[in-house]
Amino acid sequence: MADKYTPAAIEEKWQQVWAEQGFDKTVEDPSKPKFYALSMFPYPSGNLHMGHVRNYTITDVIARVRRMQGYRVLHPMGWDAFGLPAENAAIDRGVHPAKWTDQNIDQMRSQLQQLGLSYDWDREVATCSPDYYQWTQWSFIQFLQAGLAYQKEAAVNWDPIDQTVLANEQVDSEGKSWRSGAKVERKLLKQWFLKITAYADELLQDLDKLPGWPERVRLMQENWIGKSTGAKVVFKTEQGDDLEVFTTRPDTLWGATFMVLSPEHPLVEKLTTEPQQEAIAAYQAEAAAKSDIDRTDEGKEKTGVWTGSYAINPVNHTKIPIWIADYVLMGYGTGAIMAVPAHDQRDFEFARKFHLEVRVVVQPEGDILDGATMAAAWPGEGVMVHSGPLDGIPAGKGEGQSVEKAIAWLEKEGKGSGQDNFRLRDWLISRQRYWGVPIPVIHCPSCGTVPVPDEQLPVTLPENVEFSGRGASPLSQLDDWVNVPCPTCGAAAQRETDTMDTFIDSSWYFLRFTDANNEGAIFDSAKANDWMPVDQYVGGIEHAILHLLYSRFFTKVLRDRGLINIDEPFSRLLTQGMVQNITYKNPKTGKYIPIDQITDIDHPVDPATGDPLEGFYEKMSKSKYNGVAPQDVLGKYGADTARMFILFKAPPEKDLEWDDADVEGQYRFLNRVWRLVTEFAENPAAAKSEQATADLSKPEKDLRRAVHIAIKEISEDIEGDYQFNTAVSELMKLSNALSDAKCPDSPVYAEGIHTLVKLIAPFAPHLAEELWAQLGRAGSIHQQGWPGLDESALVADEITLVIQIMGKTRGTLAVPASSDKAALERYARESDIAQKYLAGKEIKKVIVVPGKLVNFVAQ
Ligand SMILES: [Zn+2]
Repeated sequence: MADKYTPAAIEEKWQQVWAEQGFDKTVEDPSKPKFYALSMFPYPSGNLHMGHVRNYTITDVIARVRRMQGYRVLHPMGWDAFGLPAENAAIDRGVHPAKWTDQNIDQMRSQLQQLGLSYDWDREVATCSPDYYQWTQWSFIQFLQAGLAYQKEAAVNWDPIDQTVLANEQVDSEGKSWRSGAKVERKLLKQWFLKITAYADELLQDLDKLPGWPERVRLMQENWIGKSTGAKVVFKTEQGDDLEVFTTRPDTLWGATFMVLSPEHPLVEKLTTEPQQEAIAAYQAEAAAKSDIDRTDEGKEKTGVWTGSYAINPVNHTKIPIWIADYVLMGYGTGAIMAVPAHDQRDFEFARKFHLEVRVVVQPEGDILDGATMAAAWPGEGVMVHSGPLDGIPAGKGEGQSVEKAIAWLEKEGKGSGQDNFRLRDWLISRQRYWGVPIPVIHCPSCGTVPVPDEQLPVTLPENVEFSGRGASPLSQLDDWVNVPCPTCGAAAQRETDTMDTFIDSSWYFLRFTDANNEGAIFDSAKANDWMPVDQYVGGIEHAILHLLYSRFFTKVLRDRGLINIDEPFSRLLTQGMVQNITYKNPKTGKYIPIDQITDIDHPVDPATGDPLEGFYEKMSKSKYNGVAPQDVLGKYGADTARMFILFKAPPEKDLEWDDADVEGQYRFLNRVWRLVTEFAENPAAAKSEQATADLSKPEKDLRRAVHIAIKEISEDIEGDYQFNTAVSELMKLSNALSDAKCPDSPVYAEGIHTLVKLIAPFAPHLAEELWAQLGRAGSIHQQGWPGLDESALVADEITLVIQIMGKTRGTLAVPASSDKAALERYARESDIAQKYLAGKEIKKVIVVPGKLVNFVAQ
């Protein structure tokens, strides 16, 4: 009698063996095709949650299948380890961020190892380690040398009580500081930017090179980049200055009746007339305190102040007033717009509030709009009117329509030119915090901004720092660290004290994995070119925009610096769905109630108030009391069951609803596989060879067909969309077919057992390895080839023929698969079913669908 299936014992045993024998190390064999499988690396919070388990299991199955298919696979793991939580822990608990982070990494690494994930741990990276961030700093200098890093003033969140800069996450929904509770102000600081806008067009165009990405993610990136076509037009002020605007509707220029500048526009001071000075200054101060989101909120009441000055509309030379309003942002476009109230709703509301002229230049068909009386802007189609050379032309962006004609006319007249505009802004990377990569530049009074020379990298984070959460950023308080000689002239100079946005760390980590231990370079170009691009990237949809866009940007810049030869970093992207569990909420109070406080689960009520509770599925979270700790599932059932459940419960891209009964079901299934294989191993009469003779009995043929159907279906499921849920169903069918088979001593049965173990290996790697050993087979199951498909085994000897009378199914009949039409009709006519239903009737017509059915039309 075989031992019971004991996941705790076999999982730990095999994890040790795999580690000792280095089975998961990357194979550098140029004769094999490469496959780079990557999960988005985690922030080391200290605790693994089910979302992680799902993400990493999906990628692990893909990596394991590819290895069995003969690829050399790169499947690494690391830590996105800089960031605010570590600094907050230092402030709250007095633990140094480095220590806190290291502890968390150790804890999460051991949790990952218990899942049996086939990582090459030799390539582990942590972005907070100097041997990694040295190259983050080196990359920054590449950007600087390429003219893609620059400084300019930008607003930060300022806590007036603690006198410190706050990250967006430290400002609550009411705009108050997380620590002091003070109302957060906005303050201008000189900060570093990366010029991602220089790559806007290419980042947009190259989305076409990513057919392996979800359509939704490509669309999100496209919208984020936000390309719009239109024209640049220059208005002259009365004082003679140029006011440049970008408009997507240059055809409506004749309807522009005022201009609006951002309150921060550099010309505001010059344009403001004496009587307007007080009102303008007050408005500017008010706008400065508001966030961009508040300022551009569509629903809010329009506000603004007239500067007292006018501009000249270049197309019809009319004088139009110049206003300032907070909904125009200096960071977008030119910080100035022409307002066409008749055809833009926001401009319309503004014009009505301040009694400004509304001039119609597009007349819709069958209607006569009047600027004085219209109730809303008309942004739709129509014919151009009161527009000089455009009169009578259909309004719109198509060929031969008003926008195209307007651009041609502006260019001919020298009044403007066609231009593309992007919503994408340059990337603000400066953070006034400690736990990040120091920006490697030195500010010298005579040489200006000097990059730290390569041989002085890394600029390491000093350790003796005080974390109070108050005052200037910790780095700027360290005089010894800040004051250094200029690398160029030797004069007294100062280090930059800003650190980098942590999104920079994760914008190139996939490149470092290709050559993770290189001490002399960011990576060896030949190695990076060999492994890149990542063949399958797996991660959450929350990273659909920024992380992926920044990684694409970094890749293109490093390509242009001659370091790599690829355009795009990730060939295929899978965004896995969330892991959800049931939550119980009191609809009256909005409070979530932990499940262990509910006495009757069929009629859940709030124990405090007696109110009936609503139950629904939501993403697992502490605050909703619906989390399931991976440790608990692993402790009870083992990693293989956890993996099987997660893969079986939903397709990878869909949300998964936790279900304890289904976890239990997978555990039972693995027990069934265990029994099947161990009983075979102990059967003294079992065939020692999988090689069957040519002349198979019917049970053997049936079983062999089931085995090869499983190979075919599972091989298809693991390609393309990775339908692991149906693959697990196929594994269950195969195990049923083996259980039911009437030929346990046959070589076909032996083939079935060995195939089952191979097919289940990527999904339940420990169980498969243990069973492989119990079968007495040499080597690791994970180094076996993927089972090959014998197409001829799929061919059925018999088919099930459906018999219909007058279109109604009356029964089925097993007939030889080789039967032709005439034979099928004969079998059907002679069947008991036909005898019974056609007795006493005359057959008028017989319809035969080969391989499927025979239908009798009779009276
Ligand atoms: Zn100098």
